[in-house]
Amino acid sequence: MRPVTIEAIKLHVVALPLVELLTTSYGAEPFKSAILVEALSSDGLTGWGESALKTQPSYGAETILTALHIMRDFLVPKLLGQTLRSPTEVPALFRSIRGNNHARAGIEAAIWDLLAKANRMRLADYFAAHLPPDHTPRERVAVGVSIGMQDTLDAQLALIAKRLDEGYQRIKLKIAPGWDVELAKAVRERFPDVTLMLDANSAYTLDDAAHLQALDQFDLLMIEQPLAHDDIYQHSRLGPQLKTPVCLDESIHSAQDWRIALHLGAGSILNLKPARVGGFGESLAIYRLCVETKTPLWIGGMLETGIGRAANLALASLPAVTLPSDISATDRYYAPDITEPPFVLGAGSSLSLPTGAGIGVDVQRDRVEEARNRWQQHNPFAPLF
Ligand code: MG
Repeated sequence: MRPVTIEAIKLHVVALPLVELLTTSYGAEPFKSAILVEALSSDGLTGWGESALKTQPSYGAETILTALHIMRDFLVPKLLGQTLRSPTEVPALFRSIRGNNHARAGIEAAIWDLLAKANRMRLADYFAAHLPPDHTPRERVAVGVSIGMQDTLDAQLALIAKRLDEGYQRIKLKIAPGWDVELAKAVRERFPDVTLMLDANSAYTLDDAAHLQALDQFDLLMIEQPLAHDDIYQHSRLGPQLKTPVCLDESIHSAQDWRIALHLGAGSILNLKPARVGGFGESLAIYRLCVETKTPLWIGGMLETGIGRAANLALASLPAVTLPSDISATDRYYAPDITEPPFVLGAGSSLSLPTGAGIGVDVQRDRVEEARNRWQQHNPFAPLF
């Protein structure tokens, strides 16, 4: 494998208007913010990564500004001038820096893209090259769509109908106390056969177990992260009380967390977000653990731009990702995105894997500049990068 020497790493803070806001039990943000990481090698190649963070510490503890601080002052200096043969060398270089998984994942992603390009491989094939030989990527990846909370049941049902018409075959709805059982009942009455799952984003406690049991009658694919964002143990108490499989999201930050959760019976399905676990290296460790334990797995999303989405799609193409991933077509998120070509929903609720090297999509510099200006305009006290 051809190595690269890291000459520079540029950080672009961007804000993009969303086609549709995603309201969850945490609320909604008016723009999708992200830090785009551009890694340049001494031989003129460019790799791109993304930290798709929020401006507030809601989904996780990190924000755009904390990640900028950690990247600029701690992570980037560890990589400058380094010659890397594999992105799996990056976590060791970052070992002295604790936490801050989204920040480290954004930078690590740029190194994965850079090294895949240096070796003229698609990122999906490059991931597979770090796995046993029977994990060849699939060319089409099954995906679903996540729909935020609407103001009325009628509006929610209309939006589900729209997404089904577009071709999505797995619908995920956000729930919170007061917007759960009646919602699921109304959806099931109108769409009796749709593949449906609910995401609570930590909105309940173990005291709500009896209430959550009322969701069992609606034939749900899973319920995602019903209890606290930092809990594993109480989920292990809830799981046996529900027929609906429990999927963990916010609680799992590493392969070790997932091993503990499986051991305790806290969840039977994993929503793997590479950024939440610190990057693709740790994601592949979790992937291997899911293979070993025959655990259903899918790849989650943070409303990434085309940069982060292309990389997540590459991970989702691996064959042990057995459930539809939260990676929708470009027109679900942005008009336009900062990359070309757009991802278009195809047959069987799927997206095609790009064919080019690395993430396989082209970053549009003028749109990045426009999105940088939008961030500056709406965040006047943020430092300039
Ligand atoms: Mg979730």
